[in-house]
Amino acid sequence: PLAGRVAIVTGSTSGIGLGIARALAAAGADIVINGLGDAAQIETARRELADAHGVRVDYDGANLLQPDGAVALVDNSLSRFGRVDILVNNAGIQHVSPIEDFPADKWDAILALNLSAAFHAIRTAFGPMKEAGWGRIINVASAHGLVASPFKSAYVAAKHGIVGLTKTVALEGARHGVTCNAICPGYVWTPLVENQIGDTANARGISREEVIENVLLAAQPSKKFASVDELGALAAFLCSEGGQSITGTALPVDGGWTAQ
Ligand code: NAD
Repeated sequence: PLAGRVAIVTGSTSGIGLGIARALAAAGADIVINGLGDAAQIETARRELADAHGVRVDYDGANLLQPDGAVALVDNSLSRFGRVDILVNNAGIQHVSPIEDFPADKWDAILALNLSAAFHAIRTAFGPMKEAGWGRIINVASAHGLVASPFKSAYVAAKHGIVGLTKTVALEGARHGVTCNAICPGYVWTPLVENQIGDTANARGISREEVIENVLLAAQPSKKFASVDELGALAAFLCSEGGQSITGTALPVDGGWTAQ
């Protein structure tokens, strides 16, 4: 159903972004993957994605901490493919610390990547999408875009911010066939979650096992991590014709976390 469409997925060398890139490629879209990491591993992932689904997959290593990086990512994709139909703003980082110790540079980096990069990519892709009369923008927010947890001040602020940005973009795109939605995962087992277990254990003075059982999965009534494939399936649905009237929403994929 997405044959002939071009999708940019930021932060797709790992985790949720890679899951979403796979699902969009499986639906027939050509893909621009983006993210940091080992060049050889990224090239392997790029080739596997292209071979598995018979689509074109390009890698763009733009660093999205810089506003210019997000603009260049979209501009380069437009010149390479001649179009950008789908933009998935997924790249994100986390830092866990009590607010009085929260490093100011971490605050700036989290706001830059988790919120501002999405704005810069959207403002660059939006004109061409409106002109084409079709576009899908998906922002990977978080359950932390809807509710808070202690020790994640920058992340919670950025994720609430991107839920607000999503609504505004949806209103501006509504008459032009351009939808914009936020996906709000609870806990998904990825390197981002793996890396914060130690910091959360330190911040709370408890063990790794206690963090998994009593902090992470305590929030999720399902008592299960969601999978990156589930996020991919939702993204693919939002990009389908069945998703054309879904816009401006923040869709939790959180095993019931935010229903509490
Ligand atoms: P991850 O660490 O596995 O992947 C993050 C991706 O972002 C990687 O591809 C990385 O290379 C890329 N990235 C990091 N810094 C970058 C930069 N400066 N420029 C470009 N790319 C950069 O993380 P993940 O868990 O897959 O998270 C993806 C998104 O999902 C994030 O926005 C995160 O906040 C959100 N999220 C994750 C969970 C979870 O439980 N894992 C829950 C809710 C929301």
